[in-house]
Amino acid sequence: MIRLHVTPDLSPGVGVAPTLDQSRYLTQVMRLKLGDDLLIFNGRDGEWRATIAEVLKKGVVLRAEDQVRSQTLGPDLELIVAVVKKSRVETIVEKAAELGAARVRLTVTQRTNVEHVRLDRLDAIAIEAAEQTGRLDVPTVDDPLKLAAILDGWDASRRLMFCDETGGAPVGSAITQPGPWAILIGPEGGFSPEERDRLRALPFTTAVSLGPRILRADTAAIAAMSLWQAAVGDWER
Ligand code: SAH
Repeated sequence: MIRLHVTPDLSPGVGVAPTLDQSRYLTQVMRLKLGDDLLIFNGRDGEWRATIAEVLKKGVVLRAEDQVRSQTLGPDLELIVAVVKKSRVETIVEKAAELGAARVRLTVTQRTNVEHVRLDRLDAIAIEAAEQTGRLDVPTVDDPLKLAAILDGWDASRRLMFCDETGGAPVGSAITQPGPWAILIGPEGGFSPEERDRLRALPFTTAVSLGPRILRADTAAIAAMSLWQAAVGDWER
């Protein structure tokens, strides 16, 4: 069944106007007609069965009919990733949404050499991935922030799984504590010795290895999230 992310609050009978792109997708790509069913969610009110209530020139109007699933939250996992080139950042955001991250925080490290990102595009990718996975929330994507600033403002109740390309503990044995976590992935140039020293000295950090091969940032992000999910996330439930 088609799943669409919408923004308004959802209640029985409420009319919802999707975006023009979504309207086109429903009528022109998926060929839905007046009265046809789909699923909608807004990240707050669970998942709803909706019908196409009107087909207008400027788009369709949906009507929320009944709630089919109540709102659930995924694991409290953040992915902090150095900005890398556009296509890789896009892959990372899509895979983070698929693998259950709640938030993607972009960061600028000493060896980051790309700074520009299109947040609107990344948000759209996160929404599409969430629609496809069946999850009921959409990960947020944050504007790039310097790594030092992220670490200065750290909430010490969250643990940090620092993926260190120079080596660390195996994830399976080092990551055993449930509760809020963040995963940190560096840029293509890796972390500077100064960054590595600071990260390793922080009380909330666990330095881990992703194996004996150096992975590209996008592969490293996918591998790290998968290992974290298998160790303490909702894959083990
Ligand atoms: N230029 C660096 C590699 C950077 S790879 C070098 O040649 O050493 C980009 C990021 O992916 C790294 O900063 C790290 O966070 C992660 N990563 C890649 N391979 C890894 C591994 N085997 N173990 C831990 N982290 C890894």
